[in-house]
Amino acid sequence: MVPPTNTATKRAHARRGEGQWALGYREPLNPNERSKKDDNPLNVRDRIENIYAHGGFDSIDPGDLRGRFRWYGLYTQRKPGIDGGRTATLEPEELDDEFFMLRVRVDGGALTTEQLTVIGEISQTYARDTADITDRQNIQYHWIRIEDVPTVWQKLEAVGLTTMEACGDSPRVILGSPVAGISVDEVIDGSPAIEEIKRRYVGDRAFSNLPRKFKTAISGLPDVAHEIHDIAFVGVQHPEHGPGFDLWVGGGLSTNPMIGKRLGAWVPLDEVPDVWAGVISVFRDYGYRRLRHRARIKFLVSDWGAEKFREVLETEYLKRKLIDGPGPEVPDAPRDHIGVHRQQDGKFYVGAAPIAGRVSGSTLVAAAKAAERTGSNRVRLTPQQKLVVLDVPEAEVAGLQTELARLGLHSAPSPWRRGVMACTGIEFCKLAIVETKARAAELVTELERRLADIVDDVEQPVSVHINGCPNSCARIQTADIGLKGQIVTDDNGNQVEGFQVHLGGGLGLDAGFGRKLRGHKVTATELSDYVVRVVRHYVEQRTEGERFAQ
Ligand code: SF4
Repeated sequence: MVPPTNTATKRAHARRGEGQWALGYREPLNPNERSKKDDNPLNVRDRIENIYAHGGFDSIDPGDLRGRFRWYGLYTQRKPGIDGGRTATLEPEELDDEFFMLRVRVDGGALTTEQLTVIGEISQTYARDTADITDRQNIQYHWIRIEDVPTVWQKLEAVGLTTMEACGDSPRVILGSPVAGISVDEVIDGSPAIEEIKRRYVGDRAFSNLPRKFKTAISGLPDVAHEIHDIAFVGVQHPEHGPGFDLWVGGGLSTNPMIGKRLGAWVPLDEVPDVWAGVISVFRDYGYRRLRHRARIKFLVSDWGAEKFREVLETEYLKRKLIDGPGPEVPDAPRDHIGVHRQQDGKFYVGAAPIAGRVSGSTLVAAAKAAERTGSNRVRLTPQQKLVVLDVPEAEVAGLQTELARLGLHSAPSPWRRGVMACTGIEFCKLAIVETKARAAELVTELERRLADIVDDVEQPVSVHINGCPNSCARIQTADIGLKGQIVTDDNGNQVEGFQVHLGGGLGLDAGFGRKLRGHKVTATELSDYVVRVVRHYVEQRTEGERFAQ
């Protein structure tokens, strides 16, 4: 046997030092890994139902409260009244309120009106009428009491919904096209693959202890931000094999944003679940488990490169070669699902915009009723925090639009309402530094008032994404104007809420991350002045057809 060289030994140590299971390193290297090894996080459901729901908040084990609860979509929410300047200085227990945020996974954003009604009614009874549509097509409640969690689960599960693995180091909700199966321009309908992955693998203990979260997107259209997912299947026409999916891995945002890499492989619809299971297995076994901030699959893919990743996937996991295939067509403009559009079957879908996903349980119940009055029983949530009603007969479209508008859901919104997204922010999020949702609402009102004179000149909505901290839950880096919440110094030397500005990010044709302009910060009170200036400048100075990101 040839003895290993020094370099090879060093490399082996470096890899082993990342805590990769496949290299034999099974001892936990940080408290999160320890917690997952000590007790599979899915076991916490039993304790919630049989101990904590009866004993109340104070009976909850801290390891469950701040760790394993996430596997069931539960996070403690932020105590009211703690300003963002103190976020980083307080201990977790000082930030924890006794109420919970609860995330309901809605794979593919697909709901029946019956499910939407139940979601809304739960909110009215148990969540103080809160319900946000997230940019991952989930519904997020607030003010949930631990005592009510088992009942909420029963009600959700009675209509086929779950909060299982809505958070945690697990396979999170699968994004899918809100118009899958009805869009006249989709290459292929990805919904059967979404359903099958959910059926086979969500809650499967083989994948309940991943190095970190694992985000999936599957769509026959480039409408689900596939470039920034841990794994994505994007519809393509193969010249010989027909419609299928192009496989991407290793995208992600947060503090180290990376665009996913194409593996150059074409996957037919019925093989998507197996290939998905292969990729998540590579991540489970080879993903880095030492440092939380290096544990997403994007770091492994970046270190290995697409070629090696594909080779390991094929030889060690799939035991066969994948078929080479082409990349997806790149859209010349970002896609959302707003407005009235004809479906494949001649009916229409109506996409409507709340502001930054903020709705309420009452709004959702009323929206479900409005959809049913037209004869529809299908609605969709979108990755842009919007809501779409499917299957509307032509004669019912105008009436539905009016009813939805009365609920604050506009299907012909201003470009500002259409392009604004915001994360949870300081109202409920323990990591937040600044307010986001209310600020998005103020911003839209201001832009609608002050930019009314140029509204007809805006060909594409200018996207403004407002984030409460550097974590990028609302995709700072992919917006025309991305705003990262932080404390800034105002003209009088005071420390106030504000934003680091990123300009010119985008997906699709302009896939790339917005430039962080060093020193380019605005206070929260200057925000609308700033956005008005930037947008007016762009609209007045641009050449014909020039997009914001150019
Ligand atoms: Fe919370 Fe930050 Fe995510 Fe916003 S970006 S929801 S503030 S963690």
